Amino acid sequence: MTTLQSIELRCPVCESAFRSQAVVSTNSFGGKRTDFHERAAGTQPLPYLIHTCAGCGYSGAERDFTEEADVSPVLKERVMSELAPVAMTGALTGSEKYEAAAKVAEWQSLEPRHVADLLLRAAWCCVDEGDIEAERYFRRKAAWKFEESLESYDGVQREERAVLTYLVGELWRRTGDTAKARTWFDRVDQEVDDLHGQQWVIDAARQQRECPREWFG
Ligand SMILES: [Zn+2]
Repeated sequence: MTTLQSIELRCPVCESAFRSQAVVSTNSFGGKRTDFHERAAGTQPLPYLIHTCAGCGYSGAERDFTEEADVSPVLKERVMSELAPVAMTGALTGSEKYEAAAKVAEWQSLEPRHVADLLLRAAWCCVDEGDIEAERYFRRKAAWKFEESLESYDGVQREERAVLTYLVGELWRRTGDTAKARTWFDRVDQEVDDLHGQQWVIDAARQQRECPREWFG
């Protein structure tokens, strides 16, 4: 079961103190989808790994509400003009929280890889929220960001390239763009850097290209 706990946070943008729910422990007994979306038995932990300030909409993980947060005047301005109006309409869903966190990460000029991860999680939340249209929207945005990170010289660790190339293919497949998916699955072979350790990625790419499955295992 997923265990949640109430925590107290202080917003580095508008200084308001607020309470949020955080994940103490979770499980992966719900299986793993072929886009690496791990599901828990019981409550899904994802929406509780990102926190949103109800006052201004600033969003991020717990550490983004500590001294470590990189909050520039420009970031504050963008949060106030673009996120605050959304936050004022009421509590955000999991996918909306991740979308806000992805915007914050982008405004902080964080690596595309980091922004892509947040967008992917927004898509995963949409699956649980039953919003197919929004799910596709976030899958496309995540795919583009992962592509951007793969294109940059050191945006992705060598040993991660094959897995992320596979993931981009799988994201396109799940948006219904089989031609694009195939192009990316076909590239996985060349990106493998440890044939023994990454044979599973080659197998997964072949599987998803020829006879796709929704779940691993
Ligand atoms: Zn705030």
